[in-house]
Amino acid sequence: MAMGNLRDLAANVVFFSLIGGITYSLFLAAVPWIISKRTRKITSQKQLEEAVLKESEKLGLTKKINPRLVVKDRGYSEQQENGSYTLVLGGNFANVYDVKHEVYHIHKGHCDFVRKYKSRLWEKTKSLLRYVFRDEPQAVIYGCTGIKL
Ligand SMILES: [Zn+2]
Repeated sequence: MAMGNLRDLAANVVFFSLIGGITYSLFLAAVPWIISKRTRKITSQKQLEEAVLKESEKLGLTKKINPRLVVKDRGYSEQQENGSYTLVLGGNFANVYDVKHEVYHIHKGHCDFVRKYKSRLWEKTKSLLRYVFRDEPQAVIYGCTGIKL
């Protein structure tokens, strides 16, 4: 293979990787954003607790979750030292889609890895890759469609 062809091939690989990366990022960011705008807003702590309970029951989840509604744009869940989970939503993330999304993360054990793999760079990298290519797509798909992967 001539050098020019190799350079063309490399350029094509870079180009299509970029297109793929952009498409993937759009899927992970834009689709949930559109869906979340169409689902019911959560406006009180009581509403959040009810929505989390409803979603937990739907998934048969018995893990203890402490939902917390905040004012700022927040959407995450994490495992506490005692094994329970904190689910925090606020601002643009205070809606039914994000409840489904976060409860599914907890259901699948996605939040359980973070604490364990805090120390080493390689473990952090693996954890990040797992989040980007497995955990987050699974939670996005469940939040949008109800399909459990
Ligand atoms: Zn997520």
